[in-house]
Parts: sequence; structure tokens; C-alpha cells
Amino acid sequence: MLVVMQATATQADIDRVCTAITEMGFQPLPMPGAQRTTVGLVGNDRRVDGSHIEALPGVSEIIYVSSPFKQVSREWRAENTIVTIAPGVSFGGTDVPVIAGPCSVENEKQILQAAQVVRAAGAVALRGGAFKPRSSPYSFQGLGKEGLELLKLAKAETGLAIVTEAMDDDGAQLCAEYADCIQIGARNMQNYSLLKTVGKLRKPVMLKRGMAATVQELLLSAEYILAEGNDQVILCERGVRTWDPSSRNMFDLNAIPAVQKLSHLPIIADPSHGTGVRDRVPPMARAAVAAGTDGLLIEVHPDPNRALSDGAQSLFPAQFTDLMRELGPIASAIGRRIAAL
Ligand code: PEP
Ligand code: MN
Repeated sequence: MLVVMQATATQADIDRVCTAITEMGFQPLPMPGAQRTTVGLVGNDRRVDGSHIEALPGVSEIIYVSSPFKQVSREWRAENTIVTIAPGVSFGGTDVPVIAGPCSVENEKQILQAAQVVRAAGAVALRGGAFKPRSSPYSFQGLGKEGLELLKLAKAETGLAIVTEAMDDDGAQLCAEYADCIQIGARNMQNYSLLKTVGKLRKPVMLKRGMAATVQELLLSAEYILAEGNDQVILCERGVRTWDPSSRNMFDLNAIPAVQKLSHLPIIADPSHGTGVRDRVPPMARAAVAAGTDGLLIEVHPDPNRALSDGAQSLFPAQFTDLMRELGPIASAIGRRIAAL
């Protein structure tokens, strides 16, 4: 439930509404706006009776949020939420930032080369996993804290913002110290205790769609993070698993406009995991920009044939440079711009 205050409402009117919500056993969330304040009621999982609040002085109207996700919904907040992960790197506005880099941080030379290549091509953020969720326990698991140190070094050398995945609570605390944005991977989209942990951190979070998750489940997972007080959430479409072995996943482009209609949170596209096949990444990246994505996540490796993870879907540096050149005109055709540092 949302209580929309009149433009002329006083602070005392707002406080009175907050008290009434608290007395009902819920939590009031005042949200000052340019024109007027709205007060959200959080903590309910079904419709509550707000008729006595409607009668309080200074109240303009009550809006009942019909979707199961509340704070994430467009009903709750009509304008786009802009998530800024570093100075000049914002998701949800006109600019379309590109996050690029290898699947995993492998060693100093590899990550510094990757950072320089993607920076020169126009990416504004560097990705790279230090903690890797691998299907096999015998596959490369990531460098852990050493990988985070290397990302910090790459940031110092290039100025790129850093996005990296956390797989558990301790990892999330550690990633928050090093990264500008914490990635929650597809396998952890429904790890609700981890979602609560990153909800308590004051760090932007990039939440990837689970490989068998519906759009509604993705938004409900985001709600866990917002419910803990962190509204700096970027959603990510990374493909869903289907019956068809011709691609690693089925990249669900329609999720982008679908999410943008349902939610004020930015949504970005990851055509690398979405296809799993290098040569399909540029066409799907171009399509995602045309579809209105709020950003891109692209795996790029200085030497994909030697990559310790996801080499088959990682672009060669020259492919990424060409792709970045192609994206500009597509973005400008729909009134957007590929973000530049
Ligand atoms: C990744 O970004 O490297 C990754 C593991 O992605 P996902 O969680 O989408 O599989
Ligand atoms: Mn990967």
C-alpha cells in the first residue's frame, strides 16, 4: 500500500501517517518526491485496510499495489531508478553502460590486458569472477581474495568500475570492500539468505535471472534486496535453459521490455551466457540495445582459447572492439547513448 500525501502536507501530517502504519504492525517508508511525499507500507503480504489512513489530514490518496512484488514495481515508483555504481557509470537513464571482461580473473597479466582492451574499446566497467560457481568441483574455482586484489589493481590502472560475483555471505562482505557492484549469479538468484545479506550492504547489486526463473520470480528475488533497504539493484537477463541443445541457454530478449513495464529497476542483457556461443554474442548484443536494454554484460578474454572458464562464449578483443563501434548508431536510433568514461 502506498499513501500519497498532498503537496501541501506538513511534516506533522507525514509523521501521523507513519505512526498509524506502525500501529497497524507494519513499517512506514516515507519517500519524499519533487512534488509530494509518498509513504509506503511494507511488511504485508496481502491487502491491508487503509481506510482510516485515507481520512488523516494531508493524505491525498491510497494506492493498493496489485503485484506480488511491491517496492520493485512501477506502481510503487513510476520513474526509473538510476543505479550509479561509480562516478559516471549509471544504469537506468539514457546512457547504456557496457560491462566487459573475462569470465574469471585468472592472473595479473590476463586481467590487466583484459581491462586495457575493454577500456580502449569503450567499456565503462570491468567484470571478472574471483569466486566462481562451477558445475564441477574440479573446475577452476577462482582466485578468491587474490582475484579481488587483481581487480583493484585493474581499476587503479584503467579507472574502470568493478563488477564481481559473490557466492556467500563472507564473499559478499569481501566483494563489497573491493567492488563497485556485487553480482549475484543465476545459481544464487533464489538464495534468499544471500539476497538478505546484500540487501543490508550499502552497495549496488546486479541480480542475474536464474536459469529456470520466471520474470516474476526474478522480481520477487529483487524484492528481498529492496525489503532490506537497498534499492540499488540492477537486474540482468542471461538466458534460460530450454530443451534445445543448439545454444547454452535461450536468451530471452522479451524479458527486457517486460521487466521495464513491471519495474522501475534497470535491466541489462548478458548475451554471453545467454547464448554460450561467441559468434552469436555480437548479434544478440546489438539486438538487446535495439530492444532498449539499460546496459550490457559481455565476456571478453585476451586469449579466449586459453580461458579457464567460458572461453567458447568469450569474444576476442578485436570482436569486442568492432561490436562497440556498431552499438553507437543502434543506441542513438532509439534516443540512447552507449556510456563513455
Ligand atoms: C558469470 O557471469 O560468469 C556467471 C557465472 O553468470 P551466470 O550466473 O549468469 O551463469
Ligand atoms: Mn562466465
